[in-house]
This record gives sequence, C-alpha cells and structure tokens, in this order.
Amino acid sequence: MKYLIIGNGVASTCAAEAIRQLDPEGAITMVADEAFPPYCRPMISMVLEGAVPPDRLPIRDKNFYDNLKITPVLGKRATGIDVKNRRVFVPGNGDSAQTAIEFDKLLIASGADPRPVRAEGTGLKNIFYMRTEQHVRGMLAALPSARNALVLGGGLVGFKAAYGLLRRGIRVTLLIRSGYPLAMQVDETAGKMILDELIRHGLDVRVGAEVRAFGGNGTVQSAHLSDGTEIPCDMAVIGKGVLPALSFVPRDDIDTDLGIMVDEHMETRAPGIFAAGDVAEFIDIARQTRWVNAIWPEAVAQGRIAGMNMAGRPVAYRGSLSRNVIRIFGLDIMTGGIVNPPENTSCRVIRRISPAQNTYRKLVFHGETLAGMAMINNIDQGGVLLSLIQNKTPIRIPGEALLEPSFNARQVMGGPVFA
Ligand SMILES: Cc1cc2nc3c(=O)[nH]c(=O)nc-3n(C[C@H](O)[C@H](O)[C@H](O)COP(=O)(O)OP(=O)(O)OC[C@H]3O[C@@H](n4cnc5c(N)ncnc54)[C@H](O)[C@@H]3O)c2cc1C
Repeated sequence: MKYLIIGNGVASTCAAEAIRQLDPEGAITMVADEAFPPYCRPMISMVLEGAVPPDRLPIRDKNFYDNLKITPVLGKRATGIDVKNRRVFVPGNGDSAQTAIEFDKLLIASGADPRPVRAEGTGLKNIFYMRTEQHVRGMLAALPSARNALVLGGGLVGFKAAYGLLRRGIRVTLLIRSGYPLAMQVDETAGKMILDELIRHGLDVRVGAEVRAFGGNGTVQSAHLSDGTEIPCDMAVIGKGVLPALSFVPRDDIDTDLGIMVDEHMETRAPGIFAAGDVAEFIDIARQTRWVNAIWPEAVAQGRIAGMNMAGRPVAYRGSLSRNVIRIFGLDIMTGGIVNPPENTSCRVIRRISPAQNTYRKLVFHGETLAGMAMINNIDQGGVLLSLIQNKTPIRIPGEALLEPSFNARQVMGGPVFA
C-alpha cells in the first residue's frame, strides 16, 4: 500500500503514526512545504513573547521520519492532484518542471494559510504573518530595532501577536474591526475585560478602521488608515484569520465548501482520499452544522482518525468543538462551543460577573444540554463543562448551579431535570 500525506503539521504527524501502528509495511511518503520537522504551531507565539526558546518547538524526536520509515519530501508544495490516475504533483528537481508522486491512499492535511490583507505596500520589510516558525524567526530578528508595532486583527493570532510584542516591551497598536479582541471566541463582556487588561499593560487600540497602505523606504515605517490617520510603525503583524489551504485541490472531484468536506471517516467524496486538520470541514458538535474548527486538539484527533481509516480500521469521528484556554497577563480565559448564540434561537443564556474579583462565567444552554461557555479568571471544572458540551449530556441539576465552580459533577447526570 502506498500512502501519501500532504503536510507535516500535527494532523499529518498523527495520521502517519496511526497508519504505521496498523500497517508496519506500507510505504508512507510525506510531502511538505515547510522543511522544519513537525512542531507545535500554537507555541510560536510563546517564542515571540520570549516564554519558550525556539528549540522547544518540535513535537517529535528528530528521528521521527526514520523511526516511522517515512520518506519525507520536504520544502516542496503540492501543486495539484490527479484523482483519476492517483498522483500528486510537486515541483521537480533540476530540469523537470514537476514530479508526480503516486498513491493508493492520500491524506490532505495542508492546514491553513493566513488571510491576506488588501493594502498597498505589504511587500515592505518587517511586515509579517504569524503562522510558521520562519515567520517568528523573522519577527525575532526585527525586534532589536523595533519600537512601534502595528497588529492587524483581534482574532486569536492577532491577539497573541499583540500580547507577545507587549511582553517584549514594544509599543503596540492593535487595529480591530469589532470593539474588542477575540470576538469569535468570547462575548462583549469578556472581550472588554480582556481589552482592559491589555490596555492596562500599555496596548493602544484602534477600532473601526482599516489599513489602506503601508509606507516606508524598503522597510515599513508607517501605516495609513481608512480614517485618514497615520500610525508610525517599524514592524507590522497581519493576523486577520486563516483560510483552509486547498488551492491545489480539484473541485470537480473533491467537494469543498470553506474547507474540504469529509464524512465521519475523514474521507472526501473521492474514495481513498482523506482530509484532516485545519483544511477539513465536518460537523461542529455544538452548532450541529458543518464548520471548520481550526484548532490544535481537533487536528490531532482528525489526523489520527484519518490515519486509522486509511490503514483499514473503520473509526468514526463524532465532530469537532471549538474551544480554547488562554492566559493573558493576569487573566485566565477558557471558552468552548457556542458563546454568542443568534438572538432567534431557543438557547438560554446565564451569566455571572464579579467586578471585584474580575471574574466572569457565562453558560449557553440548548434545551437540557450545555452548548457553550466563556469563563474569565474562574475556569475551575472547565474541562468537565467542555465534556458536557461534547457529549451533549442532559443536565440534571439547575443550570445556575454550573455557575458555581464547585458544582458537583456527579449530580449533574443524576436526579430530576431542571435546566
Ligand atoms: C500563532 C498561532 C497560535 C495558535 N494558537 C492556538 C491555540 O491556542 N489553541 C489551538 O487549539 N490552536 C491554536 N492554533 C491553531 C493550530 O496551530 C492549528 O489548528 C494546527 O496547527 C493545525 O494543524 P494542521 O496539521 O491541520 O495544519 P498545519 O499545522 O498548518 O500544517 C500544515 C502543513 O502543511 C503544509 N502545506 C500547506 N500547503 C501545502 C502544499 N500544497 N503542499 C505541501 N505542504 C503544504 C504547511 O506548510 C504546513 O507545514 C494557533 C495557530 C497559530 C498560527
């Protein structure tokens, strides 16, 4: 059996390990754009802030490819898939324009690409995305001469970039469309608490404006905003979200929506071709609809499940759940599932805020099950709450009891239904 895996991120890594566990003899080839060995992508922001040295990034032993008898084809970007003849194209060596790699089973785990920003001058030096270890290496090199940084986007990546740069003692301006950071993960109350914490630590925030152009002589020096103002910056980070990396995927043979559409075995419409991780789209457990949840734990689970199915053991994936745990200066933040239900749904929302303690707990119920949560500085039993969402466990105590961090997890599943 010839297995071919596109990508060497965590979804690919877990898939390769699952295949090798079940099939000691099959040939596994891994084609990857990045030549760096598999690493912990979320940790690049910790490298930026200086909390973790770059040599802590790898997630596997340096002999990973040898140990698993994988043929790595690194530093090459797959450019196309010939579904009928079961081949993947990569740039060739020497005179050949391209090389075809044959497969019996294929996994597409190409992750996501940063969403580009439409502005003039984005080619200037010291304007970065923050997706790869190479991006962060570039940012680290720019730090010694940087005094003012501009960060675009208040999503997970923009927010982490702003935090990391603030911790490096750089003056940071964060430009966000919504009135607060992490708008996809938290609600307005939690968002404002996070914003206050960032401002307390020196963050400058601009809302409602966009960058029209960057100025500078070779290297970025300023940003010109849609509201007519100009911001001095000798470094800029574009953190406007990500898009599944599927430009090389033939849409006639493989169904795509935002991501590559897969079934519960992580298989696409094309038999024997699978997708996993940030590039894949399947059902979101809380939303009960198709969704791309581009988060690390789901990439791990999906990669593993895809690998097992590719190697012939049928295993079903239940669906993904958005969730995150983040520490920002003095705040612990935990979120999961649907945090901002649309107004016309039958969801019931309960909340408790304590300004004195700077704590917040919000729960979203759908019928008798928990569908979402957002918590700040009061995240005890957050793991239990997540598993209640994930398992759609009927809540058998009053929902308000779950606002108490000391709720009795055993009672949740016993007794009469109140929620
Ligand atoms: C700064 C940052 C912070 C994050 N923080 C968190 C967090 O706190 N919590 C969390 O859960 N998640 C976080 N994430 C998201 C998490 O890192 C991703 O969900 C996870 O890495 C996805 O893994 P993957 O294997 O699907 O894709 P990736 O890790 O993106 O790996 C895909 C690989 O495929 C390669 N590739 C792409 N196209 C091709 C091609 N055509 N040919 C060959 N190779 C290709 C890419 O170069 C890459 O190496 C963060 C991400 C970033 C960038």
